[in-house]
Amino acid sequence: MNRPLSLYLHFPYCWSKCHYCAFNSIRYDKPQSLRLLSALKTEIARYGRSPLVQGRRLSTIFMGGGTPSIFTADQILDVLDLCRASFAWADGIEITMEANPGTVDLKKLTALRRGGINRLSMGVQSFQDDDLERLGRAHSAQVAREAFRTAREAGFKNMNLDFIYALPEQRLEGWEKTLDEAICLGPEHLSAYALTIEEGTRFGEDYENGLFVLPDEDWQIRFDDLTQAKLSRAGYMRYEVSNYARPGYACRHNLGYWSQREYLGLGPGAHSYLADRRFSKMEDIEAYIREVEARGEAIEESEPIGSDLAAREALIFGLRKTDGVCLDGILKRYPLSDPDRLQKMFEQWRWDELMILEPPRIRLSPRGLRLWDRIAEEIIALS
Ligand code: SF4
Repeated sequence: MNRPLSLYLHFPYCWSKCHYCAFNSIRYDKPQSLRLLSALKTEIARYGRSPLVQGRRLSTIFMGGGTPSIFTADQILDVLDLCRASFAWADGIEITMEANPGTVDLKKLTALRRGGINRLSMGVQSFQDDDLERLGRAHSAQVAREAFRTAREAGFKNMNLDFIYALPEQRLEGWEKTLDEAICLGPEHLSAYALTIEEGTRFGEDYENGLFVLPDEDWQIRFDDLTQAKLSRAGYMRYEVSNYARPGYACRHNLGYWSQREYLGLGPGAHSYLADRRFSKMEDIEAYIREVEARGEAIEESEPIGSDLAAREALIFGLRKTDGVCLDGILKRYPLSDPDRLQKMFEQWRWDELMILEPPRIRLSPRGLRLWDRIAEEIIALS
């Protein structure tokens, strides 16, 4: 029973589509959602019997979406009970569920907490109503405040709040008020993402049509600096590009993704990294359900991860963490065909003050973390 495993379950429904959202989610459809739950359970039971997971214990489960909390507590706990029956669980397993304000009440949250969910991640995004409206969120700031307090009352002692900043027309003062209020509420964990404009979203379309401009780089830096300064003064340690936690509350599930640990993802569009392969489930929700109904699972793509690619991915994801990676460890685990090219690149990044070399570890500077996307592209292009 060595080598822990993580499990991700995707619940793809929301009340409406937020303007920035590129996640695999659609408007809630009750009849289809019942078939989706049944398909998800078919996959859980199937993978629980698979040789791929024999001898493994689940160390984390993450129910994400979409909005898992759109389902009733009984529906969610039914899925969780099946996970308990199908997989071996490690002691102290972390079980996270994403929830949105407006989809939870005391009764539901109390049942979920008692049923074993021990970490709640709430999509608040802002405590300013004008930001929420601009983002197309389905709740107000007041509903978000109440949802947080209700979750505490229900017994959740490990909570994350998600935020987005550097929005079109957002002022620094507005973001500062949101941060102050978040700090005052005192969750154990905060995620703060700078807005990115994704193709296929309402924001993507509006941006193409010149309907808004984004803060320029100098403003972006001011937003970033304010975020880091305020959260670190309040006792939240930045441990990843966009994630901050009080000591002992970093998200173990997400740390697994950034540390090349294996995970199984079930549900439409979910990805897995298992037995030196990456595979993904069909993204189209109806197609996923039909395929599972017909064949018991719905794999869309599957590719082997060779040593070179595994090394590059370990670097890319690992460099999202503020403590970086152990370069020697990665190269020992995944020998690279041409490690010298990588070393030269690192030297250049050190010269540009993007990277800090502290053998055997390497990590990105605050500026490097801001430019992580560019760095990731250059590492991938090394093939
Ligand atoms: S609630 Fe989350 S998953 Fe749903 S539409 Fe909004 S951003 Fe997307």
